[in-house]
Amino acid sequence: MAATIIDGKAIASAIRSELAEQVAELAQKGLRPGLAVILVGEDPASVSYVTAKEKACAEIGIASFETRLPQDVPQQKLLDVINAANMDPDVHGILVQLPLPRHIDERAVIRTIHPDKDVDGFTPVNLGRMLLEEPCFLPCTPHGIIELLVRSGVPTSGAHAVVVGRSNIVGKPLANLLIRKSINATLTVCHTGTRDLASHVRSADIVVACAGRPGLVTADMIKPGACVIDVGVNRVPDPSKKQGYRLCGDVDFEAAAQVAGWITPVPGGVGPMTITMLLANTIEACRRLAGSRVS
Ligand code: NAP
Repeated sequence: MAATIIDGKAIASAIRSELAEQVAELAQKGLRPGLAVILVGEDPASVSYVTAKEKACAEIGIASFETRLPQDVPQQKLLDVINAANMDPDVHGILVQLPLPRHIDERAVIRTIHPDKDVDGFTPVNLGRMLLEEPCFLPCTPHGIIELLVRSGVPTSGAHAVVVGRSNIVGKPLANLLIRKSINATLTVCHTGTRDLASHVRSADIVVACAGRPGLVTADMIKPGACVIDVGVNRVPDPSKKQGYRLCGDVDFEAAAQVAGWITPVPGGVGPMTITMLLANTIEACRRLAGSRVS
C-alpha cells in the first residue's frame, strides 16, 4: 500500500490565505507587518532561501527590508544592523539567515535580536519560554512539522516519535514540542552517538529525519503505516539537471513511500511550512508590538 503524500505546499498555501486575511485586517488599523531580512555573503542556498522568504512576504502583504552584507563583514557591523532593526518601529520581525561566516559568533548574533522581534524563535529567551509553554515565537521548522502532523490527521497521542537529529534549530525544539500534552507523543532522539539507529527508527510511529544526510533513512527501517517527515534538504550532484544538482531529503522517498502510512516529499513537504510559520510569527509580532493600538 502506498503512503498518503503529505502535501506541504497545499497545507502551507491554505494557511497563507488565512494569514493574508489577517494582514488585511491589520491594514485597516493602519498596521503593516514588517520583516528585516539580513543576509551575509552570497552562499547560493542562503540566497535562494532569502529570496523565497521575501517573495512569500510580498504575496501576503508583509513588508520586507533586506540588508545584504559582504562575506567578510566585521561582526560589530552585523550587530549594528540588528540593533538598528531592533529600534525600527516599521520592523516587527528580524531574520538573520544562517549559517554565518566562520569569523562571526552565531550565538552573539542571535542574542542581539530583541526577543519581541525574534520571529525565528532562536533566542535563549524564546526557547526558554517554549520549554515553559509560555507565549513565545516557536521555531519555524519544528512548528511547521507539528502543523503538518495535526492538519494531516496523523495520530500523535501515545505515538512513539523518533527524531533523528538534535540541532538547536530543528531536532531539539521539535523534540520539546512533540512531548507537549497537546501532542502527547513518547519520544526518542537519535544522533551520531546513537547505537543501532535502524532499530530505533523501526519502532517509530512517527519518524522525523533531520540529520542532513541523504539516504540515511531507508525503507527497511520504517514500520509499516508509520508517518515519515523528511526535513533534510540536501544537494546531490546530478548532471542531468541544468544546475548540476538535485534536492533530496534524508529519506529514500520512493521505497519508503511503499511502506509508510504518510510521508512528506522533498521539496514540497516541510520547506513551505517553515516559511509559512515565519510569516505567522511576523504577523503575531506586529500585533503584539502594536499592543493597545490593535485591541
Ligand atoms: P545540523 O545542525 O547539521 O544537525 C544535524 C543533526 O543530525 C545533528 O544532531 C547530528 O548529530 C545528526 N546526525 C547527522 N548525521 C547523523 C547520522 N548518520 N545518524 C544520526 N544522526 C545524525 O542540521 P540542521 O540545521 O538541524 O538541519 C538538518 C537538515 O534539515 C539539513 O539537511 C537542513 O538543510 C535541513 N533543514 C530544512 C529545513 C526546512 O525548512 N526544510 C529547515 C532547517 C533545516 P550530532 O549532534 O551527534 O552531530
